[in-house]
Parts: sequence; C-alpha cells; structure tokens
Amino acid sequence: MVRRYLLLSPGPTPVPQEVLLEGAKETIHHRTPEFVNLLKETLELTKYVFQTQHPVYVLSSSGTGGMETAMVNLVNPGEKAIIVNAGKFGERWVDIAKAYGIVPVEIKLPWGTAVTPEMIEKALKENPDVKVVFTTYSETSTGTVIDLEGIAKLTKGTDVILVTDAVSGLLAEPLKMDEWGIDVAVSGAQKGWMLPPGLAFIAVNDKAYAKIEKCTNSRYYFDLRKYKKSAPDNPWTTAVNLIYMLNKAVKMLKEEGIENVWARHKLYGEATRAAIKEIGLELFSERPGNVLTAVKSPIPSSNLTKVMRDKYGVTIAAGQEPMKDEIFRISHLGYLTPFDIITGITALEFSLNELGYKVEIGKGVKAAEEVLFKGLVG
Ligand code: PMP
Repeated sequence: MVRRYLLLSPGPTPVPQEVLLEGAKETIHHRTPEFVNLLKETLELTKYVFQTQHPVYVLSSSGTGGMETAMVNLVNPGEKAIIVNAGKFGERWVDIAKAYGIVPVEIKLPWGTAVTPEMIEKALKENPDVKVVFTTYSETSTGTVIDLEGIAKLTKGTDVILVTDAVSGLLAEPLKMDEWGIDVAVSGAQKGWMLPPGLAFIAVNDKAYAKIEKCTNSRYYFDLRKYKKSAPDNPWTTAVNLIYMLNKAVKMLKEEGIENVWARHKLYGEATRAAIKEIGLELFSERPGNVLTAVKSPIPSSNLTKVMRDKYGVTIAAGQEPMKDEIFRISHLGYLTPFDIITGITALEFSLNELGYKVEIGKGVKAAEEVLFKGLVG
C-alpha cells in the first residue's frame, strides 16, 4: 500500500514545501550584513505572531530551552515562583525551578482540568512575596487551554510578572501579548509555526525586562541580557538555514492573517471533537482547546497509535506518563488542510475496528465533514 506521512502529532508538525526549500539555500556567514538584516527583518515579523511590539528573541533550542530562559532570567535561587502544574509541561516548569534552587509554589491540579483566574488570585494573595507566575497556555499533555486573558487581567499593571508557556498554544489559540498584558511568552518552532524543530522563541515586555536586568541568577547561554545587547544580531552562531525557513513561514502566516490562523485551528478542533463524539468516545479535557484533542482511549493507546502510523501513515500521539495508554492525542497544529483532518479520522476509525473496538465506519468522518463544510462553505 502506498503510504504518505501525515503528522497529526502535537509537534513535529508538517512543513510546507516552500519553507523546506528556503532551508536548502546556501548557508552564508551569520555575521554578514546580509544575514543580520535578514534576521532583523525576521524577528520584526515574528512580533506579529505574538501580537507584540516588544522584542522577540530566537534561541537555537527546542521549546524547553525557551522555558529555561524565562525561569533563569527572572527568578533568583531561594526565591519563590507560583507555578501552575496541571500536566507534563506544568511539571516541567517545576522541574526547571528546582534545578536552579528556585522554590515552586505549586498550584497542582488534576490532569485535564484548567487553572482559573480565581485560583491564581488566591495564590497571589496567600503569597504576597511571589512576583512571578508561570503558566502553560495549552497543556499539550492533556489538550487543555486556560483562560490566559482572564489571568493576565490580574497581573497587568501590577509588579507581578506573568510568564506563559505558549510553546504549543501560540498560533493555535488567540494570544494578544500586549493587549492582554502577558509579560513573557515562550514558543517553539515545531508547533503552529510550520517549521521543523530547532528554534525556540521568547517575547519579553519592558516590565519583565526590568526584572531580568536585576536578576542575579547564574546563566550564560540563555542570558537574555546578552541577547538584548547584541540585537538584532544573536550573541551566538545563529541557525542560519532555520532563519531562512522562519522568514518564509512567518510571511506565509502574515499573509494568511493571524485571525484566520486562529480560526483554522478552531475549525479543525471543532471538526475533530464532533467526530470523536459521533464515534462514541469521550474527550479527556474539561476545557479542550484547538491545539490538539485528547481522547479517553477505549484500547491501550500505544497499540492504536502504532497501527495508525505503521499501517496508515498517520502519526498521532499516545498519552504521556502517567496517562500513556489511557488517552490519545490528535493535533490540529500547523500546516494542515481540512482533508488531513478527514484522513486522520478515517485512519482512527479503521484502526479502532482493526484492534477489535467496533465503530461504524464513516460516522466520525461524516460529523467532521459537516463541521468543516459549514465552516468553509456555510
Ligand atoms: N511546553 C509545551 C506546552 C509543549 O507542548 C512542549 C513540547 N511538546 C514543550 C513545552 C517542550 O518543548 P520541546 O519538546 O520543544 O523542548
């Protein structure tokens, strides 16, 4: 059987051919005016994606490097930080804090639930000495999106810094950094950006930067003061060819329009949720977002993901520990067409049946098609 790769995983995601071909251009020296000008233009363009006028720095790392950058530049060892921990990536904030001797004040919640502004308000009241809050906009391990705009209302105009891990959330969910008052937002290339892995982004407003300048925590490679000093150049050797690709990808995103990018993810999310419901399965999250759909799996999900990938070429994700075999996750991120969503649902229906969980073939597909048709045609 002919098999084409379809990445419906929450990173890496498909990369358009136009972007891939940019990466094939000749590598030039990263300190030439030609390249520094391109980097400058590219970083200006990335501000649009974050909806900010503040600087965006690009790091040669995956998303976790962006998280570490935020943590080490804002909090000193021995100081406390409020951290929302409702999944794998909230847990990662806690792990990074501990690695640097920072004391996490955790808002620990069951997986699949969402922190509320009220919970943050309470934590801030109970810990008036804490001046930084770390959140996860889209918790990729559970498919949950939080009310980030509501949370930002609490910290905007105060001396508390709001940091969000928007590694997967950016582009898939509306995020208006300046309007909402997000102080630091982190993202990663292999998500909604239509890029391969290898870059992280961190957007920092003036309020956060003032704190960064005062922070005495040890840091070197990820020291944002170095990035600011050398801007628009990068303190280290920039990933030249990835920047060519980024430049193309952000131009494509700008041409599509950020509202349309958000709407595209929303439509795919709605179509997938409708399909899951018709198939007779249950969503895992109490507040599902449009980055990915996490579904309670009726069979061990690693068996399901294996058949979908090896037989049909469709890569979705199983759960992450400790939910490994309990859920599966279908991504809506990045360079996907409506028909990719249909392909994913078809492969899901086939694989469930093949593994002995009987579902009516075409039932989920029809539900998804109806949502997509309504969204695209009216
Ligand atoms: N945060 C979130 C919300 C993520 O989805 C991911 C990647 N799945 C990360 C952080 C970590 O990014 P990376 O694997 O690129 O280091």
